[in-house]
Amino acid sequence: MGKTLSIIKPDAVSRGLIGEVIKRFENNGIRITAMKMLKMSKKQAQGFYAVHREKPFFESLTDFMSSGPVVAMVLEGDNVIEKNRTLMGATNYKEAAEGTIRRDYATDIEKNIVHGSDSPETAEFEISYFFNQFELVD
Ligand code: UDP
Ligand code: MG
Repeated sequence: MGKTLSIIKPDAVSRGLIGEVIKRFENNGIRITAMKMLKMSKKQAQGFYAVHREKPFFESLTDFMSSGPVVAMVLEGDNVIEKNRTLMGATNYKEAAEGTIRRDYATDIEKNIVHGSDSPETAEFEISYFFNQFELVD
């Protein structure tokens, strides 16, 4: 059973899309084993996206991610990293497949509704960034 970190980004929270995103996970056999709403500080967002610190979009991305509340979740299931990435769709919503979360709701390459870990190593780092072991249900 794999684990991944999902974040419902500030654009989705402010637009009332929390339920819509969660419904897609639940309808696709993904189990939520931890969940919290929080507002990241600029520093927290910079730490979370440290792999992107040299990218031209880093400043804007970390401003956006610290601009309002997000919902962080641990998702579990078979091949959940890939499964979640498939449900999310491509980073650029214009290139995302039909029926994906980003294709249906994103408005911008940055404001693209959801985050999902991209590998087991990233998932481990990202889960521990928001959750301790006692916050995950069995
Ligand atoms: N992003 C952006 N401009 C880009 C690429 C990415 O603003 O040209 C933002 C976008 O919000 C994306 C996040 O940076 O979700 C992290 O980028 P990554 O390439 O890791 O995409 P993801 O894994 O989220 O699909
Ligand atoms: Mg990524």
